Amino acid sequence: MSDPDLVQVLIELGVAVMEQHPEGTFTAVGRMPPWLARLLPGWAGDSPLVIQEHVPFLESFLPDALDFWTGKGEGRLRSGLCAEVDESGGEYHYEVSALCVGDRRLLLFELRKDFEETREILQKARQNLLDYELLERTQRALERSQLELRKAKDAAEAATQAKSAFLAHMSHEIRTPMNAILGLTGLLLNSPLETRQREFLEIVRNSGETLLTILNDILDFSKIESGKLELEQAPFDIRRCIEDALDLFAVRAAEKQLDLSYSCVPAVPFQVVGDVTRLRQIIVNLVGNALKFTSAGEISVSTGVQRREDAAWELHIAVHDTGIGIPPDRRDRLFRSFSQVDASTTRKYGGTGLGLAICKNLAEMMGGRMWVESEPGKGSTFQFTIVAGAADSAVPDYLTSSQPELAGKRIWIVGSTATNRRILEEQLESWGVTTRATDSLAEARDWKAAGQTCDATILDLPSQTLDWQALPKPWVELTQGGRLDAPEARAGVRARVSKPIKPAGLHAAMMSLFGGQEVQEPTKTAALSSQGAPALQRVRILLADDSTINQKVGLWILESLGYRADVAGNGLEVLEALRRQPYDVVLMDVQMPEMDGWEASRRIRADLPSERQPRIIAMTANVLEDDRQRCLDAGMNDFVSKPVRPEELAAALKRCPGSAPASPTAAGESGQPEKQLEGFDPAVVAALRGMGKPGQPDVFSELLLIFRNMLPGQLAQIRQAVADNQPEALEHLSHKLRGSSANLGAKSIASVCGRLEALGKEKKLDGATRILEELEAAIRLCSE
Ligand code: ADP
Repeated sequence: MSDPDLVQVLIELGVAVMEQHPEGTFTAVGRMPPWLARLLPGWAGDSPLVIQEHVPFLESFLPDALDFWTGKGEGRLRSGLCAEVDESGGEYHYEVSALCVGDRRLLLFELRKDFEETREILQKARQNLLDYELLERTQRALERSQLELRKAKDAAEAATQAKSAFLAHMSHEIRTPMNAILGLTGLLLNSPLETRQREFLEIVRNSGETLLTILNDILDFSKIESGKLELEQAPFDIRRCIEDALDLFAVRAAEKQLDLSYSCVPAVPFQVVGDVTRLRQIIVNLVGNALKFTSAGEISVSTGVQRREDAAWELHIAVHDTGIGIPPDRRDRLFRSFSQVDASTTRKYGGTGLGLAICKNLAEMMGGRMWVESEPGKGSTFQFTIVAGAADSAVPDYLTSSQPELAGKRIWIVGSTATNRRILEEQLESWGVTTRATDSLAEARDWKAAGQTCDATILDLPSQTLDWQALPKPWVELTQGGRLDAPEARAGVRARVSKPIKPAGLHAAMMSLFGGQEVQEPTKTAALSSQGAPALQRVRILLADDSTINQKVGLWILESLGYRADVAGNGLEVLEALRRQPYDVVLMDVQMPEMDGWEASRRIRADLPSERQPRIIAMTANVLEDDRQRCLDAGMNDFVSKPVRPEELAAALKRCPGSAPASPTAAGESGQPEKQLEGFDPAVVAALRGMGKPGQPDVFSELLLIFRNMLPGQLAQIRQAVADNQPEALEHLSHKLRGSSANLGAKSIASVCGRLEALGKEKKLDGATRILEELEAAIRLCSE
């Protein structure tokens, strides 16, 4: 395009074009647009014009334009926005550019927007700029505070981590010596001791147990605080969980003559999904407190349930006691950590004031809440809810309402507490049984005298009650559960149900009466069975621990359980021992010098052929969940915490596959052949042998081991009572030994003890030394 063409196009586009002359003036090229003509009044357009005089704004632009033209610059030089008002007040906004077209120096005027619009745009831009600046400043401040927050959070997290690590470490450090204290005290208590020595040792053991509970509480609390406590999600049997918790208190409740009862509405599902250990922990804590703060009356645990919309269950558990109660103004502080109703509580009852705070937190973590209702002097009801997922499972017999063997039967309930009678009525009636209950023996006898009949009588009467024989047979007796030395059974009782009454136990007793099944209620004896495991004596065990004391304690505990073991002092020695000979089980301490237990386990799993792989049981004072996981990750199979409790170790050893005497040979190897059991009643022995589950060591063998272990200690105590001329002690000790011997069928010991007990009662110890010799002979006979 030629130069005149270009200028023409510009003019067509509404651009005003002026040409600069050498003397500095301008003339218009072509037509001037009216807006520009109004800004240049008095200029006709064809005469030369001095721009600066008319458009002062361009004063600073023109020298630049001159440079541009003389430099023959390419393109175009822009002035930026100009704003002018004409004589009649019209506002214009335009832009001026310098342009070189060949040798011509052109000045172009282009109209942009009108003034108002421009001002708005400018204001908006300025505002945006301000906003932007503000935004930027805010952003910078935010970033700064975020950084500070992150730093503070990191510091807080590091502090919590340090606290947790410190607590875990401290707990480890304390548990290691506690292991020795508790383990050795337990073993000493099983040996012959003088009465005072025994008393002192029992205090040592109880104090040790208390210290350990406090330690566990503090550790739990710190885990909850630091959010490290994780809940398990696995199916479990709710009734079993509550029953297990109550079993722990059966003996203590009996000693305090408190009635412990438990009820569970039939709607409570058999199994739900949740954390059984933590639920049991809450119940144990509440029942433990109830026992601690109640001196007379009863403690009852009841369970209810509600189905929620999301198909989960809301369980409601209440622990009621008739104890000292809590004043209304003190209730709010109950669930706070480290707080007790009043400071004197600690002196009188002990405790840290952490238990309820932990329980409340646990209930809340399980989707529920915890609260208390209480009346001072009358008692308290601690209650909580949890939400648990539904679990699909087959329902056991005793939970179904269809019971053809029991439906239509009539049962009388005589004696016991109102709560127990109510529990029995509800449970029996849910099976279609008709019940009649009274606390008065006389009333029941009146029923009989009036010619009324029933199919069985459940009785729970004080042992000195004599005239209960008049009640209709067969009899089912309620017993205080969990005692080997319970008062002698009443002759003629067909079945027993131990308190707290459990649906499964009651069902078993009923079926033994009406279902033609010889079912025995599982009793505490079965629970004790975990302590002994003679059937496992042949298990080859390697015990790894760097502490000589821990090695000794471990060996002694194993020995008391009927095992032998070899010892290794660190991971390297474990590997060496395993190379030399195969072991079935390695009990592995984790923190050992030279090579720790984790590394040793990893090596074992990597290096040994499959047929020589032992089962590895971690034995450690580290009790956090992480530690457990770390052990499993390293290839270990199981976990026993320190201080090692014999029951826990026995249970872990029992879990070893193939260790149970499944075959007759295995049972024969370990069990005592019956013909050697001089001094035992074969009928009792046979009954106890029949109680074991298939594939499990028989209950009798296990009890026999425990019994034999405690005989020397008990004999020594009796001997001491005679030597010190203490008839009461002699009566008490002989009574105790008579009870446990009778339970096990050791009739010769029981009978000699009966005579010693009578001497004690009559306060005549003259012939005691001679009878003592008979006792020694009987014990020798039963120990062979
Ligand atoms: P502690 O370990 O001290 O028992 P808890 O947190 O379990 O700690 O209980 C805190 C306090 O609450 C107890 O010291 C006691 O004063 C009161 N308390 C708890 N349970 C009961 C109860 N069943 N009856 C009366 N007071 C109770």
